[in-house]
Amino acid sequence: MMFPESKLYINGKLRAAEGGATYEDVSPWTAEPIARVADGSVADMEEAIAAARRAFDETDWSTNKSLRRELVVKLGNKLKANQEKLAAYAQHEVGAAQGFVMGPQVGMPLSFIDELLKIFDEIEWEKSMGDKPGWIGMSRRTLVKEAAGVVGVITPWNVPLYITVGKVIPALLAGCTVIVKPAPDTPLISAIWGELAAEIGFPPGVLNVVTSADPVATGEMLVTDPRVDLISFTGSTGVGKRIMEKGAPTLKRLFLELGGKSALIVLEDAPNFAQAVAMGMVTPHAGQGCATLTRLLVPKSRYAEAVAILEAAYAGYGDKWGNPTEPGQMMGPLISARQRERVLGYIESGKAEGARLIAGGKAATNKGTGFFVEPTFFVDVTNDMKIAREEIFGPVGVIIPFEDDEDAIRIANDSDYGLSGMVVSADSARANRIARRIRTGTIGVNLGASIAVDLPFGGYKQSGVGKEWGMEGFDEYLETKAIAEGV
Ligand code: NAD
Repeated sequence: MMFPESKLYINGKLRAAEGGATYEDVSPWTAEPIARVADGSVADMEEAIAAARRAFDETDWSTNKSLRRELVVKLGNKLKANQEKLAAYAQHEVGAAQGFVMGPQVGMPLSFIDELLKIFDEIEWEKSMGDKPGWIGMSRRTLVKEAAGVVGVITPWNVPLYITVGKVIPALLAGCTVIVKPAPDTPLISAIWGELAAEIGFPPGVLNVVTSADPVATGEMLVTDPRVDLISFTGSTGVGKRIMEKGAPTLKRLFLELGGKSALIVLEDAPNFAQAVAMGMVTPHAGQGCATLTRLLVPKSRYAEAVAILEAAYAGYGDKWGNPTEPGQMMGPLISARQRERVLGYIESGKAEGARLIAGGKAATNKGTGFFVEPTFFVDVTNDMKIAREEIFGPVGVIIPFEDDEDAIRIANDSDYGLSGMVVSADSARANRIARRIRTGTIGVNLGASIAVDLPFGGYKQSGVGKEWGMEGFDEYLETKAIAEGV
């Protein structure tokens, strides 16, 4: 399977990269090439930044709400009309299993677009703050929301369409101009945004897409260039910190969605204990999800039972993953050979620190030539081990026993991260009390879905700064100006 070569989209034009440079996009299922992709250089990025700046400063994009709405509706409709192509990219480029494709990879983000438009319609662009006497005289005060400016969007490879929808649609609607720099491993699912914008005839410079094989150079240019007002980044905490450092000299506005090590707390009275425990299997999308529940916390009194449930569930999982065409499957390969080696390194560290494997532990060789790691689970884990502290971003789960509710809260919060979590109990009041004490930006109670288009999503602690989705997700791309008129 080879997809057509993709291009850059800069200043309203689809074009090849400087010097015609391209690189190979590889399928995680097979390790074989699936497309050639434009390999954007810093010179290409320079042109994109200049175009986005011009479009913001010299056109009516930032003030013409009806034009923005009209074009974003067209873009959304085109994305939806290309659902099959996007699903093929999610499968072949991102390595998503079929059960995941129409959920978080493609179906869910496409269904979010219309809801984002509804939120846009509810933005209060001007608000009267009334008259107030000051030391000079009376002032009539108004708050005005304005677009934040030129936005550099830097995305990861795990759910690229979902993240691009969550950033680009609100940024454009807010009146910003945008430069998308996708992860090198998932260029096609972003390049299509340029193709569709070109078909629609977006004003030059309003949206630009620069794919690049180098993970750092073009992204870092966005972060350091004074013409870029804001960086909207989703990715690892390490790169988030580097962006903060590199953005400091220009005091870049930063929106950072980073990693997680979220806890699933199953209390002893959980109504369906086995089902709740099985949610601690880190198998969906091979664990490549920021809000994946990667630390399973169970009461000491039911620990042995939970381990037995997991042993049985993993033993029966062998044929339920790793087939790219099987509907309903949730787990495929990891994105790259590099990521597979990283995950195997974590598995070795778990073993070296004394944790015991009850499932997996190796690269899977029976699923084909791609980047497969066996569904893996560790017991005899303590919360100070590296496998309990660091984000593995692979199909590796851990279980940790707790004494009582206080101990569960303590372990869950004993993490540098603070992204998400889940509490399961027959006693809703008790579960809610615990949920309110977990230091994370989102948390589910009794299987509630804390990720939704109208709910702000973002981390506490080292899981990030700012919120995506919901009205809060629009606020990231808006500035608030206070105007006071003497009356
Ligand atoms: P990554 O941090 O390696 O890369 C993310 C993006 O940053 C890529 O486009 C990469 O090319 C770019 N980049 C790398 N170095 C850069 C630099 N110095 N300056 C500017 N850009 C740079 O992340 P990844 O491996 O692609 O994705 C996995 C990570 O993303 C995980 O840590 C995961 O938790 C996180 N993630 C977070 C969320 C969330 O909403 N919190 C969602 C999805 C993924």
